[in-house]
Amino acid sequence: MRAGEGKSRDRVAEVDGIAPQFSAGKRPNLKSFGRDSLRERFVADGLPAYRADQVMVWLYARGVDDIHAMTNLPLELRRGLAETWECRALETRAIQTSADGTKKFVLETWDGEVLEAVLIPEERRNTLCISTQVGCPLACSFCATGKMGLKRNLGVAEIVDQFIRAREVLADDDVITNIVFMGMGEPLLNLAAVKESIRIFTEPRSLGMAPRRITVSTSGIVPQIRPLLEIGPINLAVSLHATTDDVRDELVPLNKRFPLKVLLGALREEELITKKRPVFFEYTLMKNTNDSLDDARRLSLLLEGIPCKVNLIPMNPHPDADYEPPSREVCDAFAAEVYRSGLRVTLRRNRGRDIDAACGQLAARHLPQAKSVIL
Ligand code: SAH
Ligand code: SF4
Repeated sequence: MRAGEGKSRDRVAEVDGIAPQFSAGKRPNLKSFGRDSLRERFVADGLPAYRADQVMVWLYARGVDDIHAMTNLPLELRRGLAETWECRALETRAIQTSADGTKKFVLETWDGEVLEAVLIPEERRNTLCISTQVGCPLACSFCATGKMGLKRNLGVAEIVDQFIRAREVLADDDVITNIVFMGMGEPLLNLAAVKESIRIFTEPRSLGMAPRRITVSTSGIVPQIRPLLEIGPINLAVSLHATTDDVRDELVPLNKRFPLKVLLGALREEELITKKRPVFFEYTLMKNTNDSLDDARRLSLLLEGIPCKVNLIPMNPHPDADYEPPSREVCDAFAAEVYRSGLRVTLRRNRGRDIDAACGQLAARHLPQAKSVIL
């Protein structure tokens, strides 16, 4: 057995655990519920269902977190709601801005846990990368979040509030156009909360985002893929990173539980994956590990029969892992070979690397310095 292998296996075993849906704040949070469940809760409390709709407009369309400021609700009702419910799930502790305009939000939960969200401005869109767990139990060997282990799942309100906290800093005429669940944690180990948050993001009366503008990335929790996709036409990204089980076992220990054949077989048979709704395969390029032209050629054979696009990401280095990105020439040659084999492929630019905000660099370890510098 290699060093650390036993530990990884224990962590993989946590896949069986049932993820708690809501965090245990002092009171229930209004942002923990999509429209249907909030209406149900209100009706159970003897309130008309339309009051839930009014509250959702304040929370999301207007970004108001103070129940007393919801002025179309009767005063008595506002008082009653304020005694029962909370609205705010996260406080912004720091915002760091990269030379390329990427912003990292360091956010704190009611119980002092710290997580990160990243806003990536591009020419025609603003993408928000959000977290689903504090840490991650899956221990991928190249990922800073994986080195933290799992502290806990985030609740629905804590997932949704990342959007609200990030939107607060945008100019009035600017909007968040896309959401990627690619921050800290494995979304499919917190599936109930992820799905409820997607209901809130896409609810026409609250945030009204088109499902196609939402992407959920998974390292490959096979049994949870179908239940995720049933939420609607969102995008699925699968973190592949290797073309052989030996290499993937080392990079993504979850591969021992769901090896390539099982993962790709399930995707091949999944009828919710179509040409119109392809899978995005994420492939982090690591020097002398998974960056050979043989790997590039094997990719097209492996992915045969799965409508897909391949996103290549040069490894973002960090102190907790020894992997390095390949040279630019090697990345370009790999991308060209994948393209030649007939797959759609993009080589992603690294955004926010200078503030440790790029993919796989989120570890919420900069709070003390950032606190004093930023706020
Ligand atoms: N847990 C999910 C989503 C969060 S990670 C998943 O693994 O898919 C988001 C993406 O960043 C994944 O594709 C992940 O493999 C990749 N990643 C992790 N560490 C990285 C690093 N240091 N450099 C580049 N990409 C990395
Ligand atoms: Fe977890 Fe994704 Fe990081 Fe793997 S890459 S440790 S699944 S966050």
